[in-house]
Amino acid sequence: DTQKETLGFQTEVKQLLHLMIHSLYSNKEIFLRELISNASDAVDKLRFESVANADLLSDDPNLRVRVEFDKDAGTVIIDDNGVGMSREEAITNLGTIAKSGTSAFLEQLSGDQKKDSQLIGQFGVGFYSAFIVADKVTVETRRAGAAEGDAVRWISDGSGEFTIENVEKATRGTRITLHLKADEKEFADNYRLRTLVTKYSDHISIPVEMEKVVYPEFDEEGNPKPVAENTTPEFEAVNSAKALWTRARNDVKDEEYKEFYKHISHDFQEPLKWSHNKVEGKLEYTSLLYIPSKAPYDLWNRDMQRGLKLYVQRVFIMDEAEAFLPPYMRFVKGVVDSNDLSLNVSREILQNDSAVDSMRSALTKRVLDMLSKMAKNDPETYQSFWNEFGNVLKEGPADDMGNKDKIAALLRFSSTETDSADQTVSLADYVSRMSEGQDKIYYIYAENHNTAKNSPHLEILRKKGFEVLLLSDRIDEWMMSSLQEFEGKSFQDVTKGKLDLAEEDNEAAKKEKEEKAEQMKPLLDRMKAVLEEKVAGVNSTDRLTNSPACLVVGEHDMGLQMRRLLEQAGQ
Ligand code: ADP
Ligand code: MG
Repeated sequence: DTQKETLGFQTEVKQLLHLMIHSLYSNKEIFLRELISNASDAVDKLRFESVANADLLSDDPNLRVRVEFDKDAGTVIIDDNGVGMSREEAITNLGTIAKSGTSAFLEQLSGDQKKDSQLIGQFGVGFYSAFIVADKVTVETRRAGAAEGDAVRWISDGSGEFTIENVEKATRGTRITLHLKADEKEFADNYRLRTLVTKYSDHISIPVEMEKVVYPEFDEEGNPKPVAENTTPEFEAVNSAKALWTRARNDVKDEEYKEFYKHISHDFQEPLKWSHNKVEGKLEYTSLLYIPSKAPYDLWNRDMQRGLKLYVQRVFIMDEAEAFLPPYMRFVKGVVDSNDLSLNVSREILQNDSAVDSMRSALTKRVLDMLSKMAKNDPETYQSFWNEFGNVLKEGPADDMGNKDKIAALLRFSSTETDSADQTVSLADYVSRMSEGQDKIYYIYAENHNTAKNSPHLEILRKKGFEVLLLSDRIDEWMMSSLQEFEGKSFQDVTKGKLDLAEEDNEAAKKEKEEKAEQMKPLLDRMKAVLEEKVAGVNSTDRLTNSPACLVVGEHDMGLQMRRLLEQAGQ
């Protein structure tokens, strides 16, 4: 009894499959990268499990992935001796549970093929990419530690269902057979596959093997000697099989760094920048950090996967190790490989480990340095970074007091100088433009850019030629509350308290002002009486030039926007 069952794919998986098959037609070959990437992950997991249980490796200790093909049958096979899957795991992982975020992802689709195919690039297509080139996929898998008779076979044509049954499998790991579609048979070809393995999988840390090509030998008369039938094929590694981050920086080509990024990030797009460093001394570790070029669709989702891939002495330990970077750097992807942590570290231990603390502050500095350099040497690239991730970086000043100055220098604003909603003005730009006699950095915060830009509070400042930063992102007020100064200049909210604009303080002007105030007094008193409880006071002002009146809050009162936020939260 093989306990054969037919099961349906989860609705989201079905939709994803359909979309993928139809939108990735121009980039079909990526199926090989995805399947080799999974095989490599499976080997990493096995290596990790074998730390606690060495027996798991014993009968088949040379970890590798193999790519095989059969031209006549029109098949390509990816075979690994990694951790494998149990029946339950195969059912869950290959069809009934969509990856976290799948439905959020599907909601974002527009129906426009071109846009959607870019979006799917950010999602990472994984196992299902097999169906781009295959009309039938067979997965035979045996979990490490399970008996020979305890393996399963999973088969699907990708349309809506799959079957699963128990089978025998002589070796541990997973063997995936792609039955190529009629017009995709070209992939069952030695040269084609070798080229793809080199292109996409050179950085994979285990050997990706293919069968050695045996050239016929010739006898004296020039006739090929008969080839012995049924000899076991010999395999050779096609890739360089060395963990990329362990190699010297100048040994690694940009193309390899980019492919490696795609492998660890599940992002199709190229990274914007990376930084690869080996640290020796009291702590020894290697880090390879990437800044993506596009924000993932779930950047604002609390459950967004963040953190680095953690290795300890080249053994894979976990994905998404969050402890190595602060939350406001959740956009960073990469690897950290430590020589100081134990192979048994857990997430809990990472949270309270002093070595991890030191690594976090060093890695945080690295990212800030990478960004500062980019801002200085390549402002255009920095601007594109800011447009994608600026709002995350804005959490920095409140999150990371120690690096406040560095972060402040990286901030970009919209201002009255550029009069555009684009955030392109740095605080250094602002300070360099400050007028004589101006000693503060003025800003205004409003619900949206237009309200900020058209606020009556700006009139006097515009008249005086003082630049004002125009803030309207939700995070902005919180950010400003933790920024006290930049290069010795303090920040001033133009809607708060007195503006202290340096006035001509000659006696005559002062006198004139006092007289005017005297004249105004009866009017102000009447207004106050009418408005009663609604206001704390009514004052005359010289901050307006065109508008008759405006509302201000006291110097030490909460900002308007913060009030609104608290009100919304029911406070
Ligand atoms: P991801 O790799 O991002 O998790 P995939 O769609 O590529 O997503 O794979 C889904 C899951 O299927 C994997 O997380 C893993 O649990 C399982 N899987 C896929 N390929 C293999 C394999 N070769 N060996 C063991 N498990 C695998
Ligand atoms: Mg995968």
